[in-house]
Amino acid sequence: MQIPHTVCDICGRMKQETNQWLIAVTDPASKTTGNVGIAFGPANAALDERHLFLIEDICGQACAHTRLSRYLDELQQPAPPTADAPEETAQ
Ligand SMILES: [Zn+2]
Repeated sequence: MQIPHTVCDICGRMKQETNQWLIAVTDPASKTTGNVGIAFGPANAALDERHLFLIEDICGQACAHTRLSRYLDELQQPAPPTADAPEETAQ
């Protein structure tokens, strides 16, 4: 039987028994669901409707900070134009 191994989604480090691992939770459909934000919790956290969220394995605080920084950078990105957005008109 092959033992599944967990790898940090930020740095690629392999999970060991003594590591203090976390999960980062985001909603990949946040633009339509309105579930904006990122959450961190223990790796064994019980999470209702886990299948609806993007769960990333995080090996510790340093990678949690990196992931949070990436999330905040993504918030700074301008949203792509959509067909529903009203066009700006010169006045
Ligand atoms: Zn890591």
